[in-house]
Amino acid sequence: MAGAPDSTRRRTRQAVYEFVRERGLATKKDIADGLGISLPTVAKYLSYFLEAGLLEEGAKLSSGDHGGRSPIAYTCVADGRFAVGVDVTRDRVRCLVVNLEGRVLGTRRTRRVFERSEDYFAFVGGEVAATIAQTGVDRDLILGVGVAVPGLISGTTGRVTYGRVIDNQGLSAADFAAHIPYETRLVHDSEAAGFAEFWDKTTVDNAFYISLSHSVGGSVLIKNAMYRGDGELAGEIGHMRIHDDGLRCYCGRDGCLDPYCNSTVLSAHTDGSVEDFFAGLAAGDPVLAPVWDRYTTDLAIAVNNIRVMFGCTIVLGGDVGAHSGAQLDDLRRKVEQLDFLDTDSRTFLVPASVREHPIAVGAALYLVDEFRQRLGRPPSRSLGYSQPPRWSVPGRGATGV
Ligand SMILES: [Zn+2]
Repeated sequence: MAGAPDSTRRRTRQAVYEFVRERGLATKKDIADGLGISLPTVAKYLSYFLEAGLLEEGAKLSSGDHGGRSPIAYTCVADGRFAVGVDVTRDRVRCLVVNLEGRVLGTRRTRRVFERSEDYFAFVGGEVAATIAQTGVDRDLILGVGVAVPGLISGTTGRVTYGRVIDNQGLSAADFAAHIPYETRLVHDSEAAGFAEFWDKTTVDNAFYISLSHSVGGSVLIKNAMYRGDGELAGEIGHMRIHDDGLRCYCGRDGCLDPYCNSTVLSAHTDGSVEDFFAGLAAGDPVLAPVWDRYTTDLAIAVNNIRVMFGCTIVLGGDVGAHSGAQLDDLRRKVEQLDFLDTDSRTFLVPASVREHPIAVGAALYLVDEFRQRLGRPPSRSLGYSQPPRWSVPGRGATGV
């Protein structure tokens, strides 16, 4: 490999890491055979990753199949690096730390009304520092901070181009970065939630993620890649019109999905807690039943519209998707009544698998994903702090040595 171009070496480096990651445990010979490279080359990259604290020796395998000495199997160090995710909403900030597997190590939630001020940005910086301190992770191992905000973010300028949920039009990562001593990037909240759901799956091809939280949004996955449309607009189902002369949306129009299906429609009845809403509903609270009935009637219209547009799996996410549990059957029945094909909705309508703080988790995972992609890129390449790159589900096509 001494004469190989740098680009080939970087691709090989990334391929070795991804190979071990996908296998969970891999010996030198497994890697050499799997990637078609020599044992000395594998040894070189293994020592690089061992020194970087990204791989470690796992269990020794039985010598039965190999004869002679037991071969050492290598495994990825889940806590080799960390990333921070921040979810900024109108009235509170959620901050958490994840490791390279996306496991949440610590989370913190503080109430504070969003405002465009240095005071507020400094407050967010303080929340990041406090969360890191709370988890006790090594600051030198932090890849960066993803800050999720409601609003469309320009892929070219990295600025919020539409931000009416909170007044954040024109906001950029630099506003937060002045108070955060790590690589910082700004991400669209509902896209981050979808990213948390899909980033590590290799079996999903097409899906639509509905984010039902403080605001309603969505992300579109087509052939394992995010589809943002022109002007980053794709998936903005909060503004799908479902009623004539309906409720006023924050966008200024009437009849959009958002005022009918954002999570506060439910949590307003249970002191701001979506979880309590579903607990009360399950317990037979007579006040909550008609609220849920209306909610699911409206949501079923949107689900059916998405279904006929995309014909793919629809993932119910956000706070409502996370907590709806068995109550999801009410929605399923209504979707089936609208479905022109009479399909069993269980075949395409599923609850999200990431149920705890998907927006903050997704925001952090952009940094993790970028880190893994960067193993195959020149070391000088900066993450930048504008829009995340168009991503694909990792693990595919990463072994092109
Ligand atoms: Zn609207």
